[in-house]
Amino acid sequence: MDYSEKYIDISREELVSKVQAQMSEKRFRHVLGVEQAALQLAEKYGASMEKASIAALTHDYAKERKDAEFQETIRHDGLDPELLNWGNEIWHGIVGANLVQRELGITDEEILQAIRLHTTGAAEMTLLDKVIYVADYIEPGRSFPKVEEARKIAFEDLDMAVSYETKHTLSYLVKKEATIYPKTIETYNRWVAKK
Ligand code: GDP
Ligand code: FE
Ligand code: FE
Repeated sequence: MDYSEKYIDISREELVSKVQAQMSEKRFRHVLGVEQAALQLAEKYGASMEKASIAALTHDYAKERKDAEFQETIRHDGLDPELLNWGNEIWHGIVGANLVQRELGITDEEILQAIRLHTTGAAEMTLLDKVIYVADYIEPGRSFPKVEEARKIAFEDLDMAVSYETKHTLSYLVKKEATIYPKTIETYNRWVAKK
């Protein structure tokens, strides 16, 4: 796809190379799968294909950075110090968006927010946020029980797919006795819990 230069000053091919240089081959294949799924969802639901491509390609850009770099970025950029109590799983999107902004020159708030929210979701999500959140879950490389069901729902009703993913992710985290990030609970309350 050809980019317009509105959101990033390099071509898609150059962005793909920069992203590839940041991560393992396996994670890079995941990222390309997320872009593919995000483009399909963007087309189906009328989101910007260009923003979907850029956000998908950069959503896990920072995932292989060291903890110390995230901690330094939280302090240096004045992000909520409470973030320091979390780890890579929460940081790579929320804090990673700042690294994407700084290193790739992406300043579009919609794209940066989709990166920030891609792991936890949020009570308030734009169409692009939902496209990236769901694409990350259903990309062709994912294989977990019920991924086929998630894929089917994603192309029927995007909000239902947000709900399905949130419910199953939270249930998986509870089963592992993982610490639940408050935003994950907010997402659950907004998109899953019965009113
Ligand atoms: P990935 O980066 O493509 O692997 O996918 P995500 O960014 O969606 O998720 C990264 C990891 O964070 C996964 O292992 C999720 O299960 C985990 N995760 C999502 N929400 C939470 C949360 O509230 N708490 C914790 N501890 N982990 C979470
Ligand atoms: Fe991620
Ligand atoms: Fe991902």
